[in-house]
Amino acid sequence: MNDVFDDVVRQAARAGITGVCCCGTTPDDWEATSRLAQKPLPFVLVPAFGVHPWYVRHLPANWFETLESYLDKSPVAVIGEIGLDGVLDNVPLDVQEKVLVRQLQFAEHVRRPVVLHGARVWGRLVEALKPYARKLPGFVAHGFGGSAEILKQILNMGGYVSFAGSVCNPKAEKIRAAAREIPDSQLLIETDTPDLFPTGGCPAAIGANGKPLNQPANLACVLNEVAKLRHATPEALSDLTGVNARRVFL
Ligand SMILES: [Zn+2]
Repeated sequence: MNDVFDDVVRQAARAGITGVCCCGTTPDDWEATSRLAQKPLPFVLVPAFGVHPWYVRHLPANWFETLESYLDKSPVAVIGEIGLDGVLDNVPLDVQEKVLVRQLQFAEHVRRPVVLHGARVWGRLVEALKPYARKLPGFVAHGFGGSAEILKQILNMGGYVSFAGSVCNPKAEKIRAAAREIPDSQLLIETDTPDLFPTGGCPAAIGANGKPLNQPANLACVLNEVAKLRHATPEALSDLTGVNARRVFL
């Protein structure tokens, strides 16, 4: 696996990646995220610590104290991925929401930006976020897949909206329309590595399910597609999203 890691880092650097936000999802991967952030890498790596909505059940009793300690140890860390996911029906939304709100309150308290995960229940996610949005130093709706109305609400709250490989799917008209219409100052792009492998991408490896694993070097696929949608050059879009990413994460 180390070979894969070295290769992924090399390819990212070769593709011109200058910064990566690496999101933890459960207390079980926070230590690995923290170690990764301490490694010498050819790009900036911002660690994010948070409980993803898929993992809100069976949390250890001390999960929140553990989260506090990781944020305490890393002054550059952000909070994420946190959010609400309506796809997995075995994780009750009210349980997800409790864990989300606790982390939003914490993010406000420690003044750290937030990376939000949403799926299907974007309306409920936006409602939960409202009391905190303006008090956070920044937030990113990552892998955006909401409606035009949700997009408007996120933009009005001053949030950033990040597009991943799904924007490359010609059938994803709603996502493509959002990527076309969002103002320059709130646009971000991402790979959602190791998920959302884009058409035309280069796999980091093949996953246990036989599907290709995504990697940061494939950001070029998203960059080129969003540039095309916005009638911009990839260079101009890269400069723009780079400035936005640095404003949120650094
Ligand atoms: Zn996510």
